[in-house]
Amino acid sequence: MTTHLSEIELQEYALHKPDLSTEKALHFASCAHCQAVAVNYQILVNELHQLPKPSFNFDISAAVIVKLQKSKKSYSVPVILACFFSLLLIVVACLAIYTFWGKLCIIITSTTPLVTLFILSTVVLILGFHGATLYNDYQKKLKILGLA
Ligand SMILES: [Zn+2]
Repeated sequence: MTTHLSEIELQEYALHKPDLSTEKALHFASCAHCQAVAVNYQILVNELHQLPKPSFNFDISAAVIVKLQKSKKSYSVPVILACFFSLLLIVVACLAIYTFWGKLCIIITSTTPLVTLFILSTVVLILGFHGATLYNDYQKKLKILGLA
């Protein structure tokens, strides 16, 4: 056999000396080139094992916790705007209910109790679904941050 062992076979040999086929083992035993490459890989692997384990020279968990605590204290402009518009929407809804309360009572009393029950149960289901979705998203974010 005139072809040398592949780089992958030589690397595997350098790492854990796998069982080569008889033909390849005979080639390896007689080929100075393949043996030299395998020895080079073994030297490289040994050097890599002797390197110190990579690590931060500072406490990364403390740095992250400081960032998290800072983000809790400061409110960003989008959060403030979302709160403002949410409050504005609630106030407008309350004003609309207060203004049209008489007409709402007429609508509620003019429909059959079954239709009223259907409307209320639909509203409760939609609000429950959205509430559950918000809660699940919140829990997922807490898990991503490792706080749950
Ligand atoms: Zn060879």
